[in-house]
Amino acid sequence: MTDDEILKLFYETDVLKTGHFLLTSGRHSNKYLQCAQLLQYPKATEQVVKKLAENVKDLGIQTVIGPAMGGIIVSYEMARQLDARAIFTERGEDGKMALRRGFTIKPGEKVLVVEDVVTTGGSVKEVISVVKELKGDIAAVAALVDRSGGKVDFGVPAYYALNLEVESYLPEECPLCKENIPIEKPGSRKKQQ
Ligand SMILES: [Zn+2]
Repeated sequence: MTDDEILKLFYETDVLKTGHFLLTSGRHSNKYLQCAQLLQYPKATEQVVKKLAENVKDLGIQTVIGPAMGGIIVSYEMARQLDARAIFTERGEDGKMALRRGFTIKPGEKVLVVEDVVTTGGSVKEVISVVKELKGDIAAVAALVDRSGGKVDFGVPAYYALNLEVESYLPEECPLCKENIPIEKPGSRKKQQ
């Protein structure tokens, strides 16, 4: 898939929307990204993950790991394509990212860390430390979307199906507000004025 084909698929599956949005940060934007929209379509997910798998298929990956929730389906589909094992980390009540449910990694095991969207890279870095603690060998990171503008460094090669910088504005500087375009709060169905 080319970058344009991925963009087209993201718009078709409502992963990416254009309009006037109120982000959780309080800032306004003309774009909104929700990867869960893609992951509800297994065939579309397969296509996007395939683009990522091309980059890592010769690395001898034994285990794919991602953080819950966003990383679980990406990990599973990637492992299916690489004929590897799929596991995930999750946060406990203490807020700490960990392997639970009896999941483990053997010392020296070749591991690929996956995620749906990388913004600050925080969750991926937490997964990396979980793997390092168990002496796993991290070969690379792969995520559906890089929103960081290439700014995040994981210390290993990182691959993305799409690089996407979403512009956002302070409410008082928002050009869409100046045009009186109704604002939408993603996740709710109501349009706000
Ligand atoms: Zn606005």
